[in-house]
Amino acid sequence: MNLDINKIREDFPILNQQINGHQLIYLDNAATTQKPQSVINKITEVYTQYNANVHRGVHYLSNKATAAMEEARKTIQQFINAESETEIVFTCGATESMNLVASSFGQKFLTEGSGVIVSEMEHHSNIVPWQLLENQNKTKVVKWAFDDRGELNLAELEELIAENTKLLAITYVSNTLGTINPIEQIIEIAHSHNVPVLVDASQAIQHFPIDVQQLDCDFLSFSGHKIYGPTGIGVLYGKKQWLDELPPYQGGGEMIETVSFNGTTFNQLPYKFEAGTPNYVGIIALGEAIRYVQNVGLQNIAQYENTLLQYATDKIKSISELRQIGTAERRASVLSFVVDGAHPFDIGTILDKMGIAVRTGTHCTEPIMQHFGIPGTIRASFAFYNKMEEIDALYDGLIRAVRMLK
Ligand code: PMP
Repeated sequence: MNLDINKIREDFPILNQQINGHQLIYLDNAATTQKPQSVINKITEVYTQYNANVHRGVHYLSNKATAAMEEARKTIQQFINAESETEIVFTCGATESMNLVASSFGQKFLTEGSGVIVSEMEHHSNIVPWQLLENQNKTKVVKWAFDDRGELNLAELEELIAENTKLLAITYVSNTLGTINPIEQIIEIAHSHNVPVLVDASQAIQHFPIDVQQLDCDFLSFSGHKIYGPTGIGVLYGKKQWLDELPPYQGGGEMIETVSFNGTTFNQLPYKFEAGTPNYVGIIALGEAIRYVQNVGLQNIAQYENTLLQYATDKIKSISELRQIGTAERRASVLSFVVDGAHPFDIGTILDKMGIAVRTGTHCTEPIMQHFGIPGTIRASFAFYNKMEEIDALYDGLIRAVRMLK
């Protein structure tokens, strides 16, 4: 099926504007995606029609808000094919999801000398929470290095897994290199050594279908704002048997069953991990975003975005001054490059003057920059509302920027 991109773009009001006298070309989708009108409308709908705190109310508005929130949980459960809604925990983003696992899993299963393997291409949010545990309980963070294309070697994983390895925390898709890791094989290897796996799906969930039962991952995290939903809402999927075993993350309302000064008992899943008033407006709007994506169709999205990425990669290659960073065989929607002798920031600033939004810097992946010995990259990242003409404009803009700076 061919997507009607011009029609799709009408759903995203922000795209229709001039920046610095030029039509906006938004190529910063790995940082955050734009929102369709239906998601924006959903937020207004909640606040204008049934805003009330959830779960605790007996009145009409509270029941309606609660039902809408729980319906969103069901939408997300079905979207990633989790076995049960109780395996879907709402957090404020992927970062919090991973901190939750680090905190609760760390408390229960990580002791002095335990090892947590993370890859060299992780976002800081999947490195630093584990490093904090190094200080707390002397857990050891073990780096799984990638090669110069930005690919991980499965045989090296076999070698890294040791008796003390308690967890593998790994991104599905690199936000800087675009690498799609062979996550099914990685999980299989880890499981064959009884090592559970946390998958950071922040850059995967919006690009192709994910089935957590098929992957057999133990935990999976993502942020709503990267899949056309609002900011401030995220998801942690966890297999029920893990979530049952883990201690609560934060204390407060909703996560308890009873509280007394003689002791407190905790609520059932998933509420045990959802202390305080949840971001129910964000949750309801995230459900709407996922419905939108389902209507466009993730297979269609994957196919079209792949065409965009291929087209952009070929164009960039023809500019001899540019060097692509991340040349893995399987990549998704992210194109990073450097211009030797020019700072990424300067290129980004020149492109901005032409209305082209790209991201420059380390993208919260400093170990990747250290690997390549570079200060940062220029990163163009694509969504299904991007057009081939926009890539042509990026190409023209880059030629001009390189001429100005070299
Ligand atoms: N992991 C990856 C791979 C990411 O790209 C990001 C966001 N750039 C995160 C984690 C963190 O997401 P958030 O800031 O929304 O919590």
